[in-house]
Amino acid sequence: MKKITIAIDGFSSTGKSTLAKQLAQKLQYIYVDSGAMYRAVALYALQNNLIENNELNTVALINNLPNINISFQYNERLKVSEIYLNGVNVNTEIRSMEVSNIVSRVATVPEIRQQLVALQQQMGAQKGIVMDGRDIGTVVFPDAELKLFMTSSANTRAQRRYDELIESGALVTFEAVLENITSRDHLDSTREDSPLFKATDAIEIDNSNLSLDQQFDKVLALVASKL
Ligand code: C5P
Repeated sequence: MKKITIAIDGFSSTGKSTLAKQLAQKLQYIYVDSGAMYRAVALYALQNNLIENNELNTVALINNLPNINISFQYNERLKVSEIYLNGVNVNTEIRSMEVSNIVSRVATVPEIRQQLVALQQQMGAQKGIVMDGRDIGTVVFPDAELKLFMTSSANTRAQRRYDELIESGALVTFEAVLENITSRDHLDSTREDSPLFKATDAIEIDNSNLSLDQQFDKVLALVASKL
């Protein structure tokens, strides 16, 4: 059976990873959460005191890049792929607000992007991959057979992320989550290197008013048209 590359981009908390996971499971493809990779680098910066008074020590972080090893391992029990930073499972830690508040700053650094993009391209070299992020259809896999660009209203997105965080036991306010989402959207779409934008050949999916099933059916029909 022909294998394709599926690139999913879009603003924060638009449900990209939920859709990507559903697709990967249905098609038996590899799923890669590229945002988790930027989050792991941000976590490394926090753990190594490379952020002081909310200021990132960019030079030190770049010098430390050879010491940052990021990998994914499939968790058979939970049926998900989990991210490891230098051999340690950091799947939960990377979702904290502390990391969310610094990750988009970390993601503006071209040297970091180059390293992560190279790794992402390696992972997708054999096709049969679903990857979600901000620059997947534009930079990482510009030749992807199927490119999706997901949107939904900022309030809907903040509510989803807030519910997830509360469920995981985090102490956050809705306002703080909304503020984080809108400021990341702004940084992600205005940065110089690989800003977030919809590739000309990407198909936009606005899921503000779509159930998960409706969205999945719509996307499966798009996949079928590419196989
Ligand atoms: O997808 P997620 O919201 O976890 O991504 C966290 C952050 O990582 C984004 O806000 C963005 O700054 C950065 N990112 C990126 N390029 C990607 C994926 C994520 O710049 N391909």
